[in-house]
Amino acid sequence: MRKLWIDGRFADSSTGATIQVVDPATEEPVDVVPKGGPADLDRAVAAAKRTFPAWKRTPAWTRAEMLVEVGRRLRAAREEFALTLTRETGRTLRKNRGYVDWAAMCFDYYAGLIRDRRGRVIPSAQTGQLNLVIKEPIGVVGCIVPFNYPLMLLAWKVAPALAAGNTVVIKPATQTPLLTLDLHRVFDHLPKGAVNIVTGPGSEVGDALVRHPDVPCIAFTGSTAVGQHIYRLGAERIKKLHLELGGSDAAIVCADADLDAAARAVAWTAFLNAGQVCTSAERIYVEQAVHAEFLERFADLTGRLVIGPGIDETTEVTPLIGRAERDQVEARVTVARREGAKVVAGGRRPSHLTKGWFYEPTVLADVRHGMSLLKEEIFGPVAPVLPFRTFDEALALANDSPYGLGATLYTRDARRVRRYFEEIEAGNVWVNDPLVDNPAGPFGGMKMSGLGRELGEEGLEEFQVTKHVHWDIEGSVKPWWFPLEK
Ligand code: NAP
Repeated sequence: MRKLWIDGRFADSSTGATIQVVDPATEEPVDVVPKGGPADLDRAVAAAKRTFPAWKRTPAWTRAEMLVEVGRRLRAAREEFALTLTRETGRTLRKNRGYVDWAAMCFDYYAGLIRDRRGRVIPSAQTGQLNLVIKEPIGVVGCIVPFNYPLMLLAWKVAPALAAGNTVVIKPATQTPLLTLDLHRVFDHLPKGAVNIVTGPGSEVGDALVRHPDVPCIAFTGSTAVGQHIYRLGAERIKKLHLELGGSDAAIVCADADLDAAARAVAWTAFLNAGQVCTSAERIYVEQAVHAEFLERFADLTGRLVIGPGIDETTEVTPLIGRAERDQVEARVTVARREGAKVVAGGRRPSHLTKGWFYEPTVLADVRHGMSLLKEEIFGPVAPVLPFRTFDEALALANDSPYGLGATLYTRDARRVRRYFEEIEAGNVWVNDPLVDNPAGPFGGMKMSGLGRELGEEGLEEFQVTKHVHWDIEGSVKPWWFPLEK
């Protein structure tokens, strides 16, 4: 059985209990992991706190070399790690190989950035003075990761946090802890206690991490509901919070777009990872003149997607993470139908798969903007399509959401593009090519989709505190000190 990783050593959990991890494609147990508790978390935070001063003082170039080594080790273990990810998440091996490489690239990127970024010198009002803006690490960072991208979203937090000189305590999702516990292998050349990994329920271990007085910074990705809870808890100690939360992304397809490309792109964003992507297209607004044609192409394409286990290289649509999640998606489609939506593709469990938490990729027409389906994140393979008449109307509909994570526009009209990126209320804006992430491109949301940014320079600054240093080199008496208040 895998073990917790605390202070550079394997550790048994204080609770003695275990958590079973189940393969979403087969419903078979894959492995059990220790169910950590608050006492384990305390030990992990203590180790991270002890290591922080030395890691902070380690030259940035040395930290960078160690991060490059993390990337090298990830790539060397690509095949094995991808298989573990497939077993716990249900994703395809092909995608998971790519995510191992993405994580490695993230460590490389922040190794490069920290060699180059320490702050700046700003002009002084007088000669003989030096004014510095310096960036310091914060301390112990709690990294709380969701089930849908266990490795990539961990790397987006851990790589910049370590690069900046912080130490970390990682809490993976209960459904997907396996690969995270294996990561001791890519971190064991770092000082003991720089990286600690504790599994266990979010309501116990996650909560204890957020409340811990020795953890001044929390980087969380997950649902808006849990994010709100963390925001409230963080207020008690004015913690630095980085919250990447839920979304209900809109896609706008204009009549002048390449309709074939748009239909394929929307299918990719709606059904990738069975729709369990924070930036999946959940509201698809299509210009009236091409609405019928788009719907036909999109439904036809959707009906031909290959549904199956991630271990099978031909699979395009994989299962949902659990039974409850699949049942919830199914229930929401039932309610939408009752409210008048029409299923034009999918809409059931695939009959050829008797095991696994699969749901057919589903296209819904006759959807009204006010329907309950559009008000909250779906987080499943369901794509509601709605017509719009004017671009003004499309923008208003897209922005009429409590969320503001991602948004995509399909058009070749530069005037519409210009208006769109200025007026759309979303942190990640794509035009004609959705879901493309870039290690140098900051990722994050507006409104109830979160606070802060991952990736890019902004993603490093989330884990730094800024100090302004004013240094009078001679230390002589200044004429403006006395007389006081004159
Ligand atoms: P979740 O239920 O909110 O869980 C996320 C993480 O928080 C898990 O590790 C969970 O542990 C932990 N947690 C639960 N309760 C907690 C508490 N009281 N205190 C501290 N931690 C707690 O989310 P999920 O179902 O795993 O992931 C899906 C959600 O993540 C969706 O809403 C999706 O949009 C969002 N997401 C956002 C982004 C983004 O970048 N904005 C990216 C990916 C996913 P347990 O697993 O043990 O409960």
